[in-house]
Amino acid sequence: MLILSDGRTHRVAAEATTAGDAVRLQLSDAPVNATMLPESVLYHVLRTGETTILDDASAEPMSATDPYVGEHRARSILCLPLRNGAKPMGALYLENNRIARGFSPGGIAVLKIMASQAAVSLENARLYRDVAESEAKMRRLVDANIIGFNVWDADGNILEANDVFLRMVGYGRDDLVAGRVRCVDLTAPEKHDDAIRARIELAETGRTKPFEMEYVRKDGGRVPVIVGFAASDANGRKGVAFVLDLTEQKQAEKKVRESEERYREVQAELAHANRVATMGQLAASIAHELSQPIASTVISAEAALRWLDREPADIDEASRALDSIVGGANRAADVLGRIRQLVRKAPRRKEPVDINEVIREIADLVQGEARKSGAQLETQLAEGLPFVEGDRVELQQVLLNLIINALEALNGIDGVRQVCISTTETEGACVLVTVRDSGPGFGPNGTEHAFTAFYTTKATGLGMGLSICRSIIDAHGGRLWATESSPRGAVIQFTVPQRPAVSSREAQSTDATDAD
Ligand code: ADP
Repeated sequence: MLILSDGRTHRVAAEATTAGDAVRLQLSDAPVNATMLPESVLYHVLRTGETTILDDASAEPMSATDPYVGEHRARSILCLPLRNGAKPMGALYLENNRIARGFSPGGIAVLKIMASQAAVSLENARLYRDVAESEAKMRRLVDANIIGFNVWDADGNILEANDVFLRMVGYGRDDLVAGRVRCVDLTAPEKHDDAIRARIELAETGRTKPFEMEYVRKDGGRVPVIVGFAASDANGRKGVAFVLDLTEQKQAEKKVRESEERYREVQAELAHANRVATMGQLAASIAHELSQPIASTVISAEAALRWLDREPADIDEASRALDSIVGGANRAADVLGRIRQLVRKAPRRKEPVDINEVIREIADLVQGEARKSGAQLETQLAEGLPFVEGDRVELQQVLLNLIINALEALNGIDGVRQVCISTTETEGACVLVTVRDSGPGFGPNGTEHAFTAFYTTKATGLGMGLSICRSIIDAHGGRLWATESSPRGAVIQFTVPQRPAVSSREAQSTDATDAD
């Protein structure tokens, strides 16, 4: 009986029985059990790796009580281990149930040689089977044409390739046979450095991590791929490559990029429209604000004329009046400049911004509107704040929206009408801006809905202000949120990350240098 063992299970691979001159050979693959042979003998041989000879099994202590020996009247037993070096592979079990001492020393010596030869042959057969199996698996993978596959040599020739690979690069099988498919022609010129890096990695480790490449097709077109190499010999002069076509993924990525771009454009347009609309709302009060410096300019101009008309002309007084004209005109030009900035459509910028300065400018702009609503606009700005990084106009827009919302909330309430804007530096290198009003607050669940686009409780509201503010602050890497104030009122707060590693003084001097 030939018993093969994989260390855990033991199976009978073949059984030969002789009776007279006839030999009956039976191949099988059945697990060993106690009805086939004396298991006590087999396990002893497998465990010790020693040949066991029992001259009369029924009389030997090792086997006398074995149920098989009793039942089959086994007399002489010879069990030889099959080993390939130190590796146990199974055993050869021989039994003579006619006579005791049935195995001669000469016969045993021959059998031992046979057993060691058999072990080597069995191991070889197993190795061949393993190789054949893994080759078959590989072949199935290649033929399945799910991913591109090729066999290359160190001279850059593609020796073998599956259909997927050939389709990817637009070559035919005739090109492959004629040796016209070559790595050097396939690699896009700008990717040659990557190809060289892959060669070095291949030489060092025998394989490469998958990396992105671009192949040049036979028709000159390009195909983006992800490719991985593995050497099939020790010095990396031959090997295989697995290639995955990335065209669809790249197109999908491009679409996502385009739609993100479009989304950003729409967002910017919306933000701009919101700014223009808000400025429209402020037009009356700004016009009123502007009329004051203009009126005082006219008065100063008339005064200057009078001082000059005198005999002798009073130059000192006239120049004081002219100074006041310059001051008034500058103030009006300033306000107009800010309005123009807010209404202008310009791409988003990333610049150092002094948030306190932004608040002062906006507070100036809405002062007239606050007065109109009978509200007091107050600022509590922390000194020495770091600069933040962002778009000045967008941050002005956020503040403008928040202040206008606060003023609108104050309309029609009894008691103190107050809006307070404060700034402070927070942990995590951010500047925190708080806009607090003494209005009715958001009401139950109001803080949840307020940021939803088109949510408004106002007759002429659009419901876009807060959601635009939030998207602007998000784009600045900050956070904007609302809470209720005690005993009443709304609090809107937002953070903007400070400009990395530049203090406000340094930033100022950098800006001055930039301006120079
Ligand atoms: P709109 O001002 O056009 O209504 P917003 O998005 O700016 O759009 O505001 C949405 C809603 O949030 C407002 O209609 C209002 O109900 C609420 N809200 C915003 N700011 C305040 C505030 N300071 N106090 C109370 N409610 C507010």
